[in-house]
Amino acid sequence: MTKKYADVIIDISHEALDKVFQYRVPFSLQGEIRPGVRVQIPFGKGNQVREGYVISLSETADYPEDLIKEILALSPGSVAMESQMIRLAAFLKDRYGSSMYQALKTVMPVKKTVARKKKTDVTLRLTVPEAEEILRLWEKRNYRVRSRFLAALLQRPDHTLSGDEIKQIGSISQKDLKKMEEQGIITLQNRMLYRNPFSSLQKKEERVPLNLEQSAVLEEFTGDYEAGERKTYLLHGVTGSGKTEVYMALIEVVLGMGKQAIVLIPEISLTFQTVRRFYERFGEQVAVIHSRMSQGEKSDSYMRIEQGEANIVVGPRSALFAPTGNLGLIVIDEEHDGAYKSDSTPKYHARETAIFRAGMTGASVVLGSATPSMESYTRAQRGEYTLWTLKKRGGDAVLPRVSIVDLKEEFHQGNRSVFSASLREKIRERLERKEQIMLFLNRRGFAGFVSCRACGTVIKCPHCDISLTYHRDGTLRCHYCGFSSPYSRECPVCRRPHVAAFGLGTEKVETALAEEFPGARVLRMDMDTTRRKHSHQKMLEAFGGGQADILLGTQMIVKGHDYENVTLVGILAADLSLHSHDFRSGERTFQLLCQAAGRAGRGKKQGEVVIQTYSPDHYAIRTAADQDYYRFYEEEAAYRKMLRYPPWSHMLVILVQSGEESQAALAVQRIQKMIVQSQSGSQNPVSVLNPGQASLAKLKDTYRQVIYLKHTEAERLLDLKDRLQAVIDTHPLFAGVSVQYDFDPMNSY
Ligand code: ADP
Ligand code: ZN
Repeated sequence: MTKKYADVIIDISHEALDKVFQYRVPFSLQGEIRPGVRVQIPFGKGNQVREGYVISLSETADYPEDLIKEILALSPGSVAMESQMIRLAAFLKDRYGSSMYQALKTVMPVKKTVARKKKTDVTLRLTVPEAEEILRLWEKRNYRVRSRFLAALLQRPDHTLSGDEIKQIGSISQKDLKKMEEQGIITLQNRMLYRNPFSSLQKKEERVPLNLEQSAVLEEFTGDYEAGERKTYLLHGVTGSGKTEVYMALIEVVLGMGKQAIVLIPEISLTFQTVRRFYERFGEQVAVIHSRMSQGEKSDSYMRIEQGEANIVVGPRSALFAPTGNLGLIVIDEEHDGAYKSDSTPKYHARETAIFRAGMTGASVVLGSATPSMESYTRAQRGEYTLWTLKKRGGDAVLPRVSIVDLKEEFHQGNRSVFSASLREKIRERLERKEQIMLFLNRRGFAGFVSCRACGTVIKCPHCDISLTYHRDGTLRCHYCGFSSPYSRECPVCRRPHVAAFGLGTEKVETALAEEFPGARVLRMDMDTTRRKHSHQKMLEAFGGGQADILLGTQMIVKGHDYENVTLVGILAADLSLHSHDFRSGERTFQLLCQAAGRAGRGKKQGEVVIQTYSPDHYAIRTAADQDYYRFYEEEAAYRKMLRYPPWSHMLVILVQSGEESQAALAVQRIQKMIVQSQSGSQNPVSVLNPGQASLAKLKDTYRQVIYLKHTEAERLLDLKDRLQAVIDTHPLFAGVSVQYDFDPMNSY
C-alpha cells in the first residue's frame, strides 16, 4: 500500500520532538518523501510556509481527511545534519523496535543552553599616542582605576588583556569597560571557554614508527580510501599488538582529507589511557564525550564538533550520534564488548548502527579487537568485512605463560580457601620481589549458576544445554524453555551433597587476602568502590604508581591498562561467566580470560597467568589459556551452528511487563498465539521458544515475561515484530502492559 501520510516535526530539538503534525503526501511527491527529508508545509491558521522534517510515513490518517493539509514541496539544498539523524532514528526504530519518539530522543543530543563560562578579552582600539593622551587626562582628573587599567593595557606588547589578567589588575567594573568600549577606546571580545576535562594533557610530538604488520594495514586502508572505497574492516590483533597506534594512523589519513572521525570505546572511565593517547596525539582536535560528563561539558563538546573545531570524537556508544557533519571514519575499539548494546529501548547495537551511519554518509568503519565477536569474525570469514591481522605485540613484550588450576582437585585435597596452593605460592613470590599482582573475579553474567563443588558438574537444562538458575523459591529453572526442577544438594552425577549456587564476591576475597597475606597492600575495585566521578582513574593511577601490591577487582580492571610491574594475573573463578544461562557465555568467558591474561607482562619482565576453574577442560578456558582465538572460534562456531544460535540465526526477545502478574501472563499468551497463527502453513516458520518468566521475574514491582523468537532471516523477525506491534497498539488487552523488543540480544532475560 502506498504511504499517503507523513508525520512532520518543525522544531528539531530534544524538547519539541513530541510535537508531530500529520500531512498528506501529494501524488507527485510519492516515492520522494521518506524519513529525514526536509519539506515545506503550510502551518497554522494563516497557512504560512514553514520547513519541517518528515520523521515517518503511514498508510492511514489519524484525523479526518479534510483536516489534513498537504505537503507543498521538498525543500531544496543539501541534506542537513537533522535529516541524517532522522534517518538514523528510523533505522533504530525499524530494526530494534521502539517508537519514533524514543528513537529520535536517542539520536538527538540534548541541546540545552547551559551557561558557558564566558571570559572577556580587552584590546586597545586607539593608537598608542591617542591612548597616552587619554591616560594623561585621566591621571590629571584622578580617575585612578581607569588609569591603572589603561596603563596596563599600554604596557602589553599586543595591547590586549585576557579576562584573567584584568581580574588580577582588579577593581575595574564591567560598567566601566562597557563605557570605554562605547567611547571607542577598547574592544571587548567574549570568548567561549570550552570546558575540557582533559585540558591538563599536553600534545606530544614523538611517534612510534609502525612495524611491518601495522604498516601493511595503513597502506591498504589508504589505498582504499584514496580510491573512494568505503568498507568495514575488522582489525584482529592480540592484546598489545598496537591496534590503538593503527587507529591513530588511519585517523590521520582521514583528517588529511578534511574529514572527521568517531572513535568508540566501551566505557570511558575504564579506558582512560586510550583517551589520553588520543589527546596526546591530536590535542585540541579531540572532543571527548562520556556518560559522567556534566551537561555543560557535553554540550560544549557537541558544539565544538558541530562547528568543525573538533574533528575527532572519542566516547562510548552514544558518541556514535555526535553531530559530525563530515564523517569519514568510525572506529570501534574492543568491538566485541557488551557495552555496545544499549540496554534501554531502542536496544540498538553500536556496531550495526555505525555501519548504517557510515553507509549513509560515505564513511569507513574499523572494528578492532583481540577477541572479535562471533558475529564480526563470521562476517569477515564470509567476506563482508575486510580482515586485518596483527600477530605480534607492538614493542618487545612477549605473551605471558598461562597455567590452569583445577579447583575440584583443590577441594579434594582439603583446600577450602579461594586461593589454590599454586596461586598462593605465586602471590607470595611476587610480594617478595616487589612486583605487582592483579586478581580478577569475573562476576558478569553471574546469576546463581549451580554446580557440584566435588565433581564440578554444572546442573543444566535437559532441553537447552544452558545452565539452570537458582531461584529463591527453591527451584532451578531454564530461562530459555521454562523447564524447572526442585533444587537439591545431591549431585546427579557423583551423588554427594555438594551442590550449591556459586557465590563469591570481591569483599570476601579481600578478607581472605588480609588473612593470608597480612602485609600486602590491596586495592579493591568494583561497583561499590568506584561510584564517584574519576574514582576509577584515581585508583588505577594509584596502582600504576605503585601504591598497592594487589589490585583486586571485577571485569572493570581488565581493560586497556598497561602496568609495567604487573607480572602475575590470577583469575579466581573462571567458571563464573561460563555457566551463566545464555548461549554467549562461552564467548564472553573466552574474551574476559584473554583480556585478563593480556594484562600480565606488558613490560620487560615475563608475565604469568593462573586460571582457577572447576571446568579445566572446557574449550573456552583451554583456548583462552593458549590464547588461541582460531581454535576457540571453530569450537564455538560448531556449537552455534548446531543449535542455530546467532550469528547462524537472528533472535528477537519480546519482553512483556506489567504491574499485574496475570496481565503480563495473559499478554504473553496472546502474543504467542498471534505468532503461531501467523506462522501456520509457513514452510520455514519462525521458531518460538516457549514463553515464561524472565530470570528477573519481578523487578521494582513489575512482572516480567519473555518470549524468544529465532529465525535465520532478520527480515522475518522484524516483519513479525511490526505486525505484532500494530495489534499491541490497538488491542485493549495490552493497555496496562509494556512490550519491549531486543533484537539479537547480548544479555538473557
Ligand atoms: P593494543 O591497542 O592492540 O592493545 P597498543 O596500541 O596499546 O595495543 O600498543 C601496546 C603498546 O605497544 C603501547 O605501549 C604502544 O605504544 C606500543 N607499540 C605499539 N606499536 C608499536 C610499534 N610499532 N613500535 C613500538 N611500540 C609499539
Ligand atoms: Zn531449557
